[in-house]
Amino acid sequence: MRSADVVIIGGGIVGASVAYHLVAAGCANVLILERESSQGKGSTGKSMGGVRAQFATPVNIQMSLYSIPFYASFDERLGFPCDYRAQGYLFLATTPKHLDYLRANQQTQKSLGLTQARMVSGDDVRALYPQLRAGDVLGGAFCPTDGFVDPYSAMVGFTQWALEHGGHIQRGCEVTGIEVKSGRVAGVRTTKDDVATPVIVNAAGAWAAAVAHMAGATLPVEPLRRMLVPTEPFDEFPHSAPMIIDMSNGFHFRPEARGFLLAWNDPEETPGFKTDYEPSFTEKILTRAADRVPCFADVPVNPKRAWAGLYEVTPDHHSILGESDEVKGLFFANGFSGHGVMHAPATGKILSDLILRGTTSLIDQRVLRPGRFAAGELIHETAVL
Ligand SMILES: Cc1cc2nc3c(=O)[nH]c(=O)nc-3n(C[C@H](O)[C@H](O)[C@H](O)COP(=O)(O)OP(=O)(O)OC[C@H]3O[C@@H](n4cnc5c(N)ncnc54)[C@H](O)[C@@H]3O)c2cc1C
Repeated sequence: MRSADVVIIGGGIVGASVAYHLVAAGCANVLILERESSQGKGSTGKSMGGVRAQFATPVNIQMSLYSIPFYASFDERLGFPCDYRAQGYLFLATTPKHLDYLRANQQTQKSLGLTQARMVSGDDVRALYPQLRAGDVLGGAFCPTDGFVDPYSAMVGFTQWALEHGGHIQRGCEVTGIEVKSGRVAGVRTTKDDVATPVIVNAAGAWAAAVAHMAGATLPVEPLRRMLVPTEPFDEFPHSAPMIIDMSNGFHFRPEARGFLLAWNDPEETPGFKTDYEPSFTEKILTRAADRVPCFADVPVNPKRAWAGLYEVTPDHHSILGESDEVKGLFFANGFSGHGVMHAPATGKILSDLILRGTTSLIDQRVLRPGRFAAGELIHETAVL
């Protein structure tokens, strides 16, 4: 039987980053198992690629403070591009409650070392982007080191580096079972062959709960459809713009290629493995787009180019990182709730630390531990978005 020191289930950006970090830390006998014939067919290939450190909770901020500089130096470190563009995130507040929320978050961010984030006034916003309908904007928060990456390129870069330094991947190989002996992981069964291993990393994205179940463990991760609408080439809004978030309704957009990528999380969406694009979404999002950006009333959109993908959501909208309490040797890197691309570098580092050293100094990992749900210690999320 084949064997590996660590088997990673799932070859998306998270599995790839875990492999990179393990190999870089000296653990080369790592095997990624990916059921699809090519990587990126899960959420990674559907992502908007936004990266930001402007979060409310310390743990999310700390993960971004590792991840964003990592992306900024990706090419240097790995020899592959990830197309990091530091164009920023600009949150627009139209209520005093939202403005207070941004101010409070910024204090937390600054206390953790994010010096570049700053508040902007309503007048600043109107002067910077006269194309916005911003009469009701009271102010906002901007961080210039936030921005975008190409998730597919980052995933390929992590994978290739790991492979070139001794790691392994098998594509077209679905894990169908997990062998557990005396409460410890012993190996995996797959559609190809069995692999003996003392350590498994669940990096199966929206399918992570089913993978945990194979080992008899529970994992509260649910799939939730998200849809994105790219515009055709459009020059009436600057292409140097940041990700702009309208906090009044959650509509957000960013430049992409010669057009823009439009996003809005429909609050009526319900959990499930739905990956079809819903045609009625086009009108819903264009209404919100034109409301905040009047020139978007005429933006050309080809609904056939729009797409849907899955968020992997947890009850407190924070990831689940660490070893299962139920099965020793089973590690989770799951439940990113919309932030898996921006937090993939930190996740790889944290998982590698936990597997190889039993501890990490990057974050207080107890906060994200799998057992927090059973203990009733969910993270208090102050998000008002
Ligand atoms: C529309 C949309 C927009 C998004 N925008 C952003 C954003 O702006 N910024 C951000 O940070 N995040 C964003 N996300 C979230 C982000 O894409 C995900 O959090 C991230 O891609 C998760 O990566 P992953 O590697 O865990 O999962 P995936 O990329 O889904 O990879 C999991 C892999 O596991 C494989 N797999 C599953 N089961 C098995 C099995 N039994 N055996 C073998 N292989 C298996 C799957 O085939 C898949 O390839 C967005 C997501 C969507 C859908």
